Amino acid sequence: MFDLKQYPLTFAGDALEPYMSARTVDFHYNKHMAAYIKNLNGFIEGTEWSGKGLDEIIAKTAGNPTTSGIFNNAAQVFNHAFFFATLRKDSGTAFPAALNDAFGGFDKFAAEFKEAAVGVFGSGWAWLIHEDGQYKITKGLNADNPIAHGAAPILCLDVWEHAYYLDYQNRRGDFADAFLNHLVDWNIVEKRIAAIT
Ligand code: MN
Repeated sequence: MFDLKQYPLTFAGDALEPYMSARTVDFHYNKHMAAYIKNLNGFIEGTEWSGKGLDEIIAKTAGNPTTSGIFNNAAQVFNHAFFFATLRKDSGTAFPAALNDAFGGFDKFAAEFKEAAVGVFGSGWAWLIHEDGQYKITKGLNADNPIAHGAAPILCLDVWEHAYYLDYQNRRGDFADAFLNHLVDWNIVEKRIAAIT
């Protein structure tokens, strides 16, 4: 069974202000993420999926209508843990050289990532992934996750309205700007890159 305590926040609830309010962190982590964990546990209890890791559950339940409840909640647990783990206000960490080379600098990367985030129609995620030897920025709807497509996730931004509406209302682009310029700990991104290459 999964537990929110397996995925502790690495920052105090108010540590990301003004870019992400304590209220947003509280609702997002303690209500939304907790609910995905509760729902996932409800779906997998007493099934073959009980005791399996998130990566395996995601990879093996993707694309199957009969396991969509398990997939959606497992992927959302993964996505939220992955998202929260990258957050640190004004970390001062360096944009990874590999991404600098692949995208032609931080500004070009940020513009493309923001475009993806703003372009998600409805609820979903903007992703930086590594696939077929290349870094790519992609959009995912709802709970979509790169592991479901055989790609390696490197960075994600939650663009479900619950992620930003209390702080930014309809200004999703401003939320993406704040995330890219003030909330990403690039050392975490660098470690993920090192782990897959
Ligand atoms: Mn969320």
